[in-house]
Amino acid sequence: MPNFSLPDHVVKQAVQSFPTPFHLYSEAGIRARARKLNQAFSWCDDYEEYFAVKALPNPSILRILKEEGCGVDCSSETELMLAEALGFEGRDIMFSANAMPDDEFTHARRLGAYVNLDDITHIDILKKHGGIPETVCCRYNPGGDFRIGTFVMGNPGEAKYGFTPEQFLEGLLQLRQLGTKRFGIHAFLSSNTLDNAYYPTLAGILMRTACDMAEKTGLDIAFINLSGGIGIPYQPTQTEPDVLQIGEQVRKVYTSIFGDHGPALKTELGRWMTGPEGWLITHATHHKDTYRHYIGLDACAVNLMRPAMYGAYHHITVVDKEDQPHDHIYDVTGSLCENNDKFAVERPLPEIHDGDICVIHDTGAHGYAMGYNYNGRLRSAEILLTENGDFRMIRRAETPQDYFATLDIDPCAEKLGLKV
Ligand SMILES: *Cc1c(COP(=O)(O)O)cnc(C)c1O
Repeated sequence: MPNFSLPDHVVKQAVQSFPTPFHLYSEAGIRARARKLNQAFSWCDDYEEYFAVKALPNPSILRILKEEGCGVDCSSETELMLAEALGFEGRDIMFSANAMPDDEFTHARRLGAYVNLDDITHIDILKKHGGIPETVCCRYNPGGDFRIGTFVMGNPGEAKYGFTPEQFLEGLLQLRQLGTKRFGIHAFLSSNTLDNAYYPTLAGILMRTACDMAEKTGLDIAFINLSGGIGIPYQPTQTEPDVLQIGEQVRKVYTSIFGDHGPALKTELGRWMTGPEGWLITHATHHKDTYRHYIGLDACAVNLMRPAMYGAYHHITVVDKEDQPHDHIYDVTGSLCENNDKFAVERPLPEIHDGDICVIHDTGAHGYAMGYNYNGRLRSAEILLTENGDFRMIRRAETPQDYFATLDIDPCAEKLGLKV
């Protein structure tokens, strides 16, 4: 099995210190991934990974990534605030726009971030809110299908992101007129992709497009931004993309187009960086036998939305029972009044009893971060397993006080135990 490697004794230790449910993250694992990625692109001058903050927006994690030389990819005011508070500055911040409030451009410009425009109308907004910088990144959308060989890997034509090729040229001409000297080109054409050919194929498209645009506008290419999209093996039958091989394949495409010296490369991986280094630790609290066999956990979709939202597979293991036959077929559910609140559907698992510890794997990216408060359920704590084996709470669990904090509830505040 690829990466379902958290030892049971570590889970049991963590459960002694913290009430379930909680997300547990491995510092050593996250550092190792950042180092491997940096190694994969070490051939490229001025390469930088801008970790997609939305995947795991916890300052303790961002600080670790900063120590490993990563920047951050932000796309909201609060993500910019996090970046600023942690001391990311200027060129270590990418601001990816997308139907954002105008003043977020001002904020990004004040921090000296790279601004990645999503649309031709953003040029005018940026002009009025923060001003047009010397280097601007624009998001490219080639339309149609995105194929690797003959295989359709994505449908950019149906995606809300980016400039069409015609708008891209028009946009660069406008930017040049407004004083831009250098540009970055960005595209995100396929999500959670296990195929090692994704980045090299995307790199080829972006590099050729950038050369073509540079020729037509006279602008320099500052960087190619390959964005996110490298996937992780959520299922035991899948295999981890080989980032070192991906880096080497991108190098081949790069040298065939630019030779030894060319623009910088940037990436904005989220999922690949932290996804497999996080686990949602839960207890089985209920079992129920009706038309199916159900196991109820003390976690629910509020703690991990991907299965409910996308029908996504997340591997589940039961502590101390992995060697037992997986001869029970369970739906593993949460407590929401919502039938899609299931972490697994008809999944073969060992026999589960109330009180067993169930580990839901690959929750380190787009896990806690997508949490919400439906049914008045509260978000969990986040715990860091540090490099020296200690556990550190890096976010406490929400309390009812947090849940009620934004309400105008004067009349009943006292009964809810809140300060007015
Ligand atoms: C979400 C996002 C990413 C990260 O995507 P992953 O699938 O987590 O790799 C990178 N860049 C942008 C602009 C994004 O919106």
